[in-house]
Amino acid sequence: YFRSLENNGIHLNKAQLKAVRHVDGPFLTLAGAGSGKTTVLVCRTGYLMTVKKVDPRQLLLVTFTKKAAMEMKARIAKLPGVNKSQADKVMAGTFHSFFLYLLRSQGNREEILSSERQKQIILKQIQRSKGIHDPYEPEVLLSTLSFYKMNLIDRGDWPSSTQVEKEKNEILIAFENWKAENRKMDFDDILVYAYDLLIHNPSLTSSLQKRFQYVMVDEFQDTNLLQYSLIKLLVKGHRNLFIVGDDDQTIYSFNGARNDFILNFDNEFPEAEMTTLDLNYRSMPDIIGLGNEVIRHNKKRRVKMLKPTKAGRINPLYSRPSTTDEEAEWTLKKVQTLIASGKYSYKDISILHRTASSSRAMFERLLLEEVPFITYNVHDQLFYEQWIVKPIIDYLRLALVPRNFEAIEGILPTLFVGREKGIQYILNQERSNRKKYPIIHLTTMNHIKSFQVKKIKDRLKLIKTLQNEKPVDAIKMIRKEFYDTYLECAEQKKVTEHKEVLKETLNELEASAKRFDTVSTFLTFIENMKKKHEELQNISKAEKKDALSLMTIHRSKGLEFPVVFLIGACEGNLPHSSALDIEKLKDRNTFSSGKDMLGDAIEEERRLAYVAITRAEEELYISSPAFYQGEKRDISRFIVSAFQKDTVKKPISKKQIPKTKKKVKAWICTSQECIAWQRIEEGEIGGKLCPLCHSRMDIGIKEV
Ligand code: ATP
Ligand code: MG
Repeated sequence: YFRSLENNGIHLNKAQLKAVRHVDGPFLTLAGAGSGKTTVLVCRTGYLMTVKKVDPRQLLLVTFTKKAAMEMKARIAKLPGVNKSQADKVMAGTFHSFFLYLLRSQGNREEILSSERQKQIILKQIQRSKGIHDPYEPEVLLSTLSFYKMNLIDRGDWPSSTQVEKEKNEILIAFENWKAENRKMDFDDILVYAYDLLIHNPSLTSSLQKRFQYVMVDEFQDTNLLQYSLIKLLVKGHRNLFIVGDDDQTIYSFNGARNDFILNFDNEFPEAEMTTLDLNYRSMPDIIGLGNEVIRHNKKRRVKMLKPTKAGRINPLYSRPSTTDEEAEWTLKKVQTLIASGKYSYKDISILHRTASSSRAMFERLLLEEVPFITYNVHDQLFYEQWIVKPIIDYLRLALVPRNFEAIEGILPTLFVGREKGIQYILNQERSNRKKYPIIHLTTMNHIKSFQVKKIKDRLKLIKTLQNEKPVDAIKMIRKEFYDTYLECAEQKKVTEHKEVLKETLNELEASAKRFDTVSTFLTFIENMKKKHEELQNISKAEKKDALSLMTIHRSKGLEFPVVFLIGACEGNLPHSSALDIEKLKDRNTFSSGKDMLGDAIEEERRLAYVAITRAEEELYISSPAFYQGEKRDISRFIVSAFQKDTVKKPISKKQIPKTKKKVKAWICTSQECIAWQRIEEGEIGGKLCPLCHSRMDIGIKEV
């Protein structure tokens, strides 16, 4: 078996062999990125099947994302001595897919409530019916609920000492009841129901324990208490639990992931054998070096140093564009050069971003340049179609064409008028009375309340004034009209973290609109984007086989690409502003029960940076736009601290630039994409190469 593996190009090292050959009892492989953990898991699967003749139906492999599960299956099918039908018999999936399969096999037929938006609407309705006027953001309520569930905190133990907590609990319980009455469950419920089922049905549990003799979990560092408890139930008795993971890659703390589970694995399984892997097979030495430099600043970790197996010098390249649009342009130019060189195709390239709204500029650029690309994000939606943005665009459309009925329909919820009913009413009135501004018909609707009439009239006034504004000013006016009061209110009540997402999205919208002089050119641009997006969605699967990927760092976990671009590496994005607000967050009621579980948010952000960097095999590009979502931003502290070698001094954060500027003679990198400079030491002469990007350095004057 091992010889055939070698013929397939996989020469397992000693530590890997130890893990792969392990058969009975618990086993932990704790090792850094790209060291071959997933490889070990896959090869062990083959070893058990072909050498140990284990029935493939007795194997269960669990991982976190659908894409990772699919890749795992594909890799198993390619193992020597494993045919397709055997590979198909191995149970390999995500936590959710496996436990959903289990529930369904036990007769559960509840419909899955997968839309976050729908859940939010239900929560709003519940609040309204209870006479509570929106002080609790649905997103926050949902994350609280999820936190309780993932940490197995029973209803009776939910914190309830304050009025706020009591009120929240009441809403959440009503939400749970609504789901039960309507025979629906959400993704969290899949795991909760499965846990209840296993706890209350010992004969089922023991039959599962018999069926799955060997249980393996990839990316174990991201398991939460509920997931860990489920796994422990499955392996009770035989204890054949084989896990691999990297505590430096815990990036789902918000979902209850706790990297102490992997670090303290031997508390639960004292007999566990263990190995670490310290050779990196994935990345070029300088990429590994950068990864190590970034992560070593974390305090809560087990120190690991990865040694490269690949040789060659391709340095990560850094750039500091002025805006995200410029960043996107720069990236695309690089992409085209890489493709033109013939060395790479689109599928080799991945662009990673921190949050959904931070990919707006890149998404547009890719559409404009007609690059085939795939987003692995949950919503493959155009920025302007998102629920926060769409009504604003509809206001702009109405400013140009007041008789645009589709746009009228789009803004009805912002007038607190039901969509279907409202538009029906307007269309009926239109038959006898055609108005220049059909929206005014609404004021004559039955049962319309006086506050709604006022809103309709105010908004009509607004629509009339928008037409001649610059698009960015028009958006500011709309924002003022119906988001700012809401945001202020949220600020005062300190009940929401969701306001961050809202603010970010609106700032990004303004940054986008700033590029256009008139509302009509902005809207034409959006129409064009929509068309291009539709075209992209219609291209065939075959064509998509060679597509670039644009995804969040979270989604990139476990994957690898020859070329990686990490965009938006600036303060406020990576680390994200929510992490910078951690002190506020810790005070918040939401997590009063789990303050200690929150962990250090900055460390989590640093792990995200580490995950992003370590996805790259050969080339890595990092960029930090100077203006991000309309605000001036410093370079990400993670990048700065990694590049802060003794010899390289760069102007880094504002704090570090002394107020009185002094002119010094310095080496300055000639590459516009690089920010490096160094003081000239006495006696130094020309011919120096930049330590960051290897371009030539020139002598010049630097203000410090
Ligand atoms: P991550 O922490 O990102 O999940 P990982 O530890 O799971 O990484 P793998 O994805 O298993 O790492 O391996 C990284 C790369 O190294 C893969 O391309 C894999 O094929 C290759 N690889 C792993 N082990 C070996 C080996 N012994 N010989 C050659 N290549 C290897
Ligand atoms: Mg892996």
